[in-house]
Amino acid sequence: MRASGTTTAPATAPPVTTTPPTAPPAATAKAAPRATAPPSGRPRAYDVVVVGGGIIGLVTAWRAAQQGLSTAVADPDPGGGAARVAAGMLAAVTELQYGEQTLLELNLASARRYPSFAEELTEATGLGLGYRPCGTLAVALDSDDRAELRELHTFQRSLGLEAQWLTGRECRRLEPMLAPGVRGGLRVDGDHQIDPRRLACALLKAAERAGVAFLREPVERITVARDRAEGVVLRDGAAPAAGRVVLAAGSLSGRIAGLPPRVVPPVRPVKGQVLRLRIPPAYAPFLSRTVRAVVRGGHVYLVPRENGELVVGATSEELGWDTTVTAGGVYELLRDAHELVPGITELPLVETLAGLRPGSPDNAPLLGPTELPGLLLATGHHRNGVLLTPVTGDVMAHALTHGGLPPYAEPFAAGRFADAPGAPDTPLPHAPVPHERPSPQEQTA
Ligand SMILES: Cc1cc2nc3c(=O)[nH]c(=O)nc-3n(C[C@H](O)[C@H](O)[C@H](O)COP(=O)(O)OP(=O)(O)OC[C@H]3O[C@@H](n4cnc5c(N)ncnc54)[C@H](O)[C@@H]3O)c2cc1C
Repeated sequence: MRASGTTTAPATAPPVTTTPPTAPPAATAKAAPRATAPPSGRPRAYDVVVVGGGIIGLVTAWRAAQQGLSTAVADPDPGGGAARVAAGMLAAVTELQYGEQTLLELNLASARRYPSFAEELTEATGLGLGYRPCGTLAVALDSDDRAELRELHTFQRSLGLEAQWLTGRECRRLEPMLAPGVRGGLRVDGDHQIDPRRLACALLKAAERAGVAFLREPVERITVARDRAEGVVLRDGAAPAAGRVVLAAGSLSGRIAGLPPRVVPPVRPVKGQVLRLRIPPAYAPFLSRTVRAVVRGGHVYLVPRENGELVVGATSEELGWDTTVTAGGVYELLRDAHELVPGITELPLVETLAGLRPGSPDNAPLLGPTELPGLLLATGHHRNGVLLTPVTGDVMAHALTHGGLPPYAEPFAAGRFADAPGAPDTPLPHAPVPHERPSPQEQTA
């Protein structure tokens, strides 16, 4: 995906003359972004440079530009990243895991934001996002799976979440393509879906329209001088200065050089393989909502899009930056999906893909200012990055204009792992850039 309006800054950057984080400019939704521009008209200093143009970097840049901040996104492939692979479930309730109650609050807040966020983005760009308020059905195929789902239901109800237990027959009445062996399920009418590729396209266009500049180069390092982040150095040698640098490089966020170890985010890649099938018009509506299942302890989901696409996912593998689609991954997904919905073997298989979730130690994002003045994080969204896009935009706009986090985002403060055992205490080696993966020796197990 390519954006127009690419802007590359010259190699030598002047001192930053932009607004410090503690004294943000007044928030004016339609204010034109300001940049220090040399006579050539190409800015070489920005209020904000965002490292990484995945959905999280793009929503941050869009919101920053709306606040009147001159903003650039540095990324060789903006609008790409994990969203190209992601299923797009907005599944705060069915994705609930034990120990993640704090994250649940943020997930729910973002799910509530989605309708107005999608409307605003569509209004700004004229692009649809494939937002489908269709609900989710989570089913079990044997008695162990049913016991697990029952436990999840009890947990959900203890937190006041809306989920209705259905018998196998009731599940099949809702979704007739389900296998006869389905033993029961949970109907969750509040867990919806969006098309992440369309979301990324729309965010790219919205950011461009709001005046964000795109620097189509990998960031080699973040420049730190006088104990603050002052800009970035791109692979082509350009070094745009920045009042604030936002690190939003997904699973590579921990590998950008130049930062003191205490502020390097502890983010790791978590590989996910997905399949895309097509539902021919004669078979429509194949499924009317997202269907997910526990199949002999494993998890599989089927996400039917309004355009006839059916996404089947996803594996979860800790293999470093490997994005190989494997026979085993495809086999397991098809095997489990077939057990759940036998008719899927009739559908054309149109795509297989693997992507990397940016995992954090507690599966929650790292947001806002760090100990290093001028450096903010927006990373670690793991398996909920699509769901968390609206609220991340809100939180980062607040952080960039007020200097801190809004109270509801404080549990997700960027610095919460700085003193954790195992936090990096030595500088990382020179960072790889996208498309230059670390060697197998460097990859995590
Ligand atoms: C298989 C799979 C299924 C998923 N399903 C869902 C789902 O159903 N619901 C949900 O909410 N979430 C889901 N997710 C998670 C979601 O996709 C991610 O959390 C989200 O896309 C992360 O976005 P990001 O912008 O933080 O990172 P990324 O998408 O990884 O983007 C990072 C960007 O940084 C750039 N970059 C990296 N290094 C540099 C550098 N040195 N210089 C410049 N740029 C750099 C990259 O080019 C990339 O564009 C899924 C993910 C996967 C893999």
